[in-house]
Amino acid sequence: MPDRRTFLKSSALGAAAGLPLLAACAPETPDVAQDPDEGAVAPIRPVALSTWNHGLAANREAWPILESGGRALDAVEAGVRVPEADPAITSVGYGGAPDREGHVTLDACIMDEAGRCGSVAFLREILHPISVARRVMEETPHVMLVGQGAQDFAVAQGFERQNLLTPEAEANWRTWLERNGETGPPPVNTENHDTIGMLTLDMDGNLSGACTTSGAAYKLHGRVGDSPIIGAGLYVDNAVGGATATGWGEAVIRAVGCFLVVELMRQGHPPQEACRLAVERVIEKNPDWQEIQVGFIALDRQGRYGGYCIAPGFDYAVKTPDIDELVDAPSRL
Ligand code: ASP
Repeated sequence: MPDRRTFLKSSALGAAAGLPLLAACAPETPDVAQDPDEGAVAPIRPVALSTWNHGLAANREAWPILESGGRALDAVEAGVRVPEADPAITSVGYGGAPDREGHVTLDACIMDEAGRCGSVAFLREILHPISVARRVMEETPHVMLVGQGAQDFAVAQGFERQNLLTPEAEANWRTWLERNGETGPPPVNTENHDTIGMLTLDMDGNLSGACTTSGAAYKLHGRVGDSPIIGAGLYVDNAVGGATATGWGEAVIRAVGCFLVVELMRQGHPPQEACRLAVERVIEKNPDWQEIQVGFIALDRQGRYGGYCIAPGFDYAVKTPDIDELVDAPSRL
């Protein structure tokens, strides 16, 4: 059993701009475990790592599963189901912003320790897309189901259809439509983001990951972002580590972002540095990078973690903090 002394931290990349990227939950660890220069670091287990402040609630849900010796996959699914069901979170599941036609369409994917994966995209009227993605992984020979086919599969699996458009989300959409009906979707930036991505490492040393979103607000009908794309929005390799992404999905897809983060860790880069290098690749591939927000978080098989992002208004040159400088609000579970 792990030490009961656990900690939860919400870290901000560029705290001055109030941009929390990463929430972590892990046993209290010796400094050496986060030192990339140390050869043999003591493995830290278990760990739950999520994007944004919403990740704190997800981590709280996942933690008892991990702490009692449960499987990383069960923990990661249980964790992200919390923001999926929370109507106050306008970028995931119920209460998520609709597309420009007023439909809430959901993208999600999940990966386990064996590299198995499942994904759903452009899924409507199902509260927990992450659980449908898991069923795709476990109950079908496929990786990805989309649109009506994904919904039909979910219903056949016992999921109920329900309206996911809350009155608040509908009112915001109507206001946006009145003011911006002739323009394209707004870019994903600090006011319009919040995909929940989550990575877990269990007591057996196994990793899993999940990513779930309602996608870019007021997107074109039919648009699918990075979040359900294995390798872009999420990637897990049990021999190395896992990564998940948040922000402007088109930019992440162009760089195959999360696969890149994991490959960089495979080459020996610690998680924080791997995320930074992947952000640099996003910058290379996206000339409009100063107008978009993109972030990665990563967790390696030793339990080390990190995150890095770009966002409009940030001075890229100063955004190279060490993870320990990012701790914003440490608190006990
Ligand atoms: N990555 C998501 C997408 O492009 C958006 C987000 O992170 O909020 O659909």
